[in-house]
Amino acid sequence: MTVKLYWQDAYLKEFDSTVERVEGNAIVLAETAFYPTGGGVQNDTGTLASGDRQYRIVDVKKNGDEVLHYAEGQVDAKPGDAAHGQIDWDRRYALMRHHTAIHLLDGVVERNYKNGTITGGSIFPEKARIDFEMDGLNRELLQKILDDTNAIAQEGHRVFARQLTKEEALAIPNLARTEPGREMMKAMESVRVVEIEGVDMQMDGGLHVADTKEIGKMTLSKYENKGKHSKRAEIVLGQSQ
Ligand SMILES: [Zn+2]
Repeated sequence: MTVKLYWQDAYLKEFDSTVERVEGNAIVLAETAFYPTGGGVQNDTGTLASGDRQYRIVDVKKNGDEVLHYAEGQVDAKPGDAAHGQIDWDRRYALMRHHTAIHLLDGVVERNYKNGTITGGSIFPEKARIDFEMDGLNRELLQKILDDTNAIAQEGHRVFARQLTKEEALAIPNLARTEPGREMMKAMESVRVVEIEGVDMQMDGGLHVADTKEIGKMTLSKYENKGKHSKRAEIVLGQSQ
């Protein structure tokens, strides 16, 4: 099992570890700060130094309880070797900001717009894509929702993760927003919950900024009609505050 340092500290940029296993050009470490692809969020990239080699990590994937770091080129590390990892922080921080932006937007929609929900999200370093199912949604209404969300972001709400027991989690309505999420929650012993204080709380395995002020201003960059009620939007973020 790989110890997930990114869950202990989302702001950890460098770490020391030991090689556990090598499979082709994939390296498994005892612990890692590299976030693997998952939950609609792209993976981290970075470098991993071991012995006299420095590997460029171009892809990171989850495999059961392990995290696989895919290196560019051939790997000659072996189990027991010391390793030092460094993630590409600008990319990760942008992913954390976009991810938190979607949570905040989701919280605002959940609280103020009872006739619709966010049904999916994809997070990239340069943008976030959001799918809505909402009666009467149009560009103007979406702009108003974004304005509301930007105003709440500026208030500076704390964002943090904690573990709940399954019983505690099931007692909170709407903690998982999708049917597969609800099914997944029933199978879990303990549920990781991400809370934006006073705004939103949901089951989540991702990484977020610590304060909504870090998100920056959300701007609508694309709006598409996918059907009568289905809409897809893309947002980009301005500077962190
Ligand atoms: Zn999340």
